[in-house]
Amino acid sequence: MTVSLMSSTIEHLSKQTKLKLLFISTPVGPLGSGLGGGVELTLTNLVQELQRQGHSIQVVAPENSVASNTSLVAIPGELQPTAHTRGRASPITLPGHSVLAGMWDYARKAQQDYDLLVNFAYDWLPFYLTPFIGRPIAHFVSMGSLSTAMDHVIHNVALQFPDTIGVYTRTQAETFPFADTCRCLGSAVDLSLYEYCDQPGPCLVWLGRISPEKGLEDAVSAAQRSQTPLKILGKLEDKDYWRKICEDYPEAPIEYLGFLSTAELQGVVRQCRALLMTPRWIEAFGNVAIEALACGVPVITYRRGGPAEIVKSGKTGWLVEPDSVDGLTEAIAQVDQLSRRACRQQAEAEYSLTALGERFEQWFRDILTSRH
Ligand code: UDP
Repeated sequence: MTVSLMSSTIEHLSKQTKLKLLFISTPVGPLGSGLGGGVELTLTNLVQELQRQGHSIQVVAPENSVASNTSLVAIPGELQPTAHTRGRASPITLPGHSVLAGMWDYARKAQQDYDLLVNFAYDWLPFYLTPFIGRPIAHFVSMGSLSTAMDHVIHNVALQFPDTIGVYTRTQAETFPFADTCRCLGSAVDLSLYEYCDQPGPCLVWLGRISPEKGLEDAVSAAQRSQTPLKILGKLEDKDYWRKICEDYPEAPIEYLGFLSTAELQGVVRQCRALLMTPRWIEAFGNVAIEALACGVPVITYRRGGPAEIVKSGKTGWLVEPDSVDGLTEAIAQVDQLSRRACRQQAEAEYSLTALGERFEQWFRDILTSRH
């Protein structure tokens, strides 16, 4: 017994040893549906890069998930409500036939086959279960602080299992009372999937889940004021919210293109003059920002949250006063001064999959080393 523990410790410390990882996806939607937002892209990118490095990964996700080039265990059940649609004081809920419970039931039974479990859910249950699961768990937290109950349960895990809480950005970490214990891991894009475009057409673009925390109305208002056409892409998460925007801005030069695949999305985005990002909340990262940069498209956004850590104002976009439509409008007028080449170069220098894979691998190895 002692001998096998020691040899497995030595193996995990060795960079040459490949890891066996169980990725447990978000329970708010099937992988590929867009309901999970940017964490779906992060998970997909990580699977691709870590498999390329020779690690073996099994993904557990709600049924109807789509994941190419990886083995997927599909779990039936009702989806979790999204945390951002509920109040800070809201109690924890689990539907009767919970997909989240089913996914963790699978993880508990299969855990012996893996070195490490990796949780991508912003949900109470996986954090609560952590001390009851024998295998170590790395928790990737994809949003800032949204609820008291979640803050408590994540904090408990951070104290009991140091360095097992990963986040996108420092700004995101600082929304939590346990900011100092979080490891910032950032995000990345597969640059080969995004084609650079030097000469854009006349349109602006807005990308994301259509939901109040994303502040789409500000982008629509700025497009109307600057009389610049705006293409809108993304999951229609809140239909009433979208209807109200259409009623409030009947004259706005906007066009909704639906939820597109990455290949289709970059085909539209790269031909646009700029990406408008108008989040009301503290965006944890803002994957759409680096997707736009990868196409050579500057990003106009508020000086708040993750996007403010990404955009170099005056070089690869403009950071404007939060919630200021005037600020957005002024920035739109100046966007053509920016070098699109500089945008692509920033994506290449700072957001490659290789660097993301290395950061996550190091995090996983550190967790395994400290656990042994
Ligand atoms: N997205 C997409 N198709 C679309 C619009 C958006 O696949 O038509 C994806 C986009 O690639 C990104 C995600 O939706 O990965 C949005 O992630 P982000 O981090 O910007 O915000 P979140 O939804 O996580 O708050």
